[in-house]
Amino acid sequence: MAGRYTLSMIKPRAVREGHAGEILSIVTKQGGFRIVAMRMLRLSREQAMKFYEVHKDKPFYNDLVEFMSSGPIVAYVLEKENAVQAFRSFIGATDPSKAEQGTIRSLFGKSIQENCVHGSDSDENAKREIQFFFASHELFDAQGNIIEL
Ligand code: GDP
Repeated sequence: MAGRYTLSMIKPRAVREGHAGEILSIVTKQGGFRIVAMRMLRLSREQAMKFYEVHKDKPFYNDLVEFMSSGPIVAYVLEKENAVQAFRSFIGATDPSKAEQGTIRSLFGKSIQENCVHGSDSDENAKREIQFFFASHELFDAQGNIIEL
């Protein structure tokens, strides 16, 4: 799997405000990423705590967990060469006010917390995050065959 896949979420506010379709369109058409798997779901508090466990000592952890479990998200797996880094460049900086113009976070992000999308930050975390949301039979290559991570 090294380098080809990343996990993204469209966060609750962007889903609530109706931007999910537009974001996915930009990611696939302008970004050239291919959707490998996708689900809409609402995280429980416990699931959000688990997903963001690496941030548990940060001052924003409780607010982040609260926000990420406040409504439905869209979770999806993307494929592209060097997917993790390519997607992080494509979405822009964590703080939308610092994100390069034209990036997804500059277009749809509202604040450093409500920055509209998540993107994995390493291949190792991408694998962990993909397996957090998806079973092995839910990931498909371009021909519709199941992908082994
Ligand atoms: P990312 O990899 O760009 O998503 O950033 P991080 O891994 O550092 O943080 C994870 C998520 O926590 C971010 O996407 C934001 O939603 C949130 N976050 C990060 N830094 C802050 C902060 O300083 N304040 C608040 N309220 N939320 C933050």
